[in-house]
Amino acid sequence: MEATSVAYQWQYDKADLKYCPRCGAPFTLEDVDIPGQPQLVCHACKFVFYLDPKLVVMAIVTFGPRVLLLKRAKEPGKGKWALLAGFVERGEDPFAALKREAQEETGLEIKIEKVFKVNSFPDAGMVQLIFEATALNRQIVTNAESYEGRFFSWEELPWAEMAFEATRQTLHEFIMEKRNGAGLILESSGGRG
Ligand SMILES: [Zn+2]
Repeated sequence: MEATSVAYQWQYDKADLKYCPRCGAPFTLEDVDIPGQPQLVCHACKFVFYLDPKLVVMAIVTFGPRVLLLKRAKEPGKGKWALLAGFVERGEDPFAALKREAQEETGLEIKIEKVFKVNSFPDAGMVQLIFEATALNRQIVTNAESYEGRFFSWEELPWAEMAFEATRQTLHEFIMEKRNGAGLILESSGGRG
């Protein structure tokens, strides 16, 4: 996966795709079932190429009263902090994909607790599945995708150095939800029983 250093451009429009990936014949853009929603059609091999959104798995990984952030070594957001995340490949289970990403990017073994939320970016063609997970160990070994990985206490989160607005928003919502449910373990909190 790390063999090439191509700046990966993953965004594209339907009209950018000119040829059928099955047989190489030119596509035509035409309505199939729904008027006004043209699809990529190959008349040579009778294939309709329905474009799926990219699926990203992401996790708020905690270890005790701390949360994992990774300092990105690649654009976008190079040099800034983000949650553990990765693209799900076709044929891959999202849960397995997240565990694989954790292993590859941090060396951590994680336990996935539940889905925290779903972020949708229709214009970019991306859906983010954001999970809550706990790390089973805290020794972080990053790969080429990150400069550094660290477990931050909730009080010391680097809000001004987050790679993406969605990261900031997601962590904010997580903190609000846990505080309201008195479920967020703060190092300084006495707890309410
Ligand atoms: Zn074809």
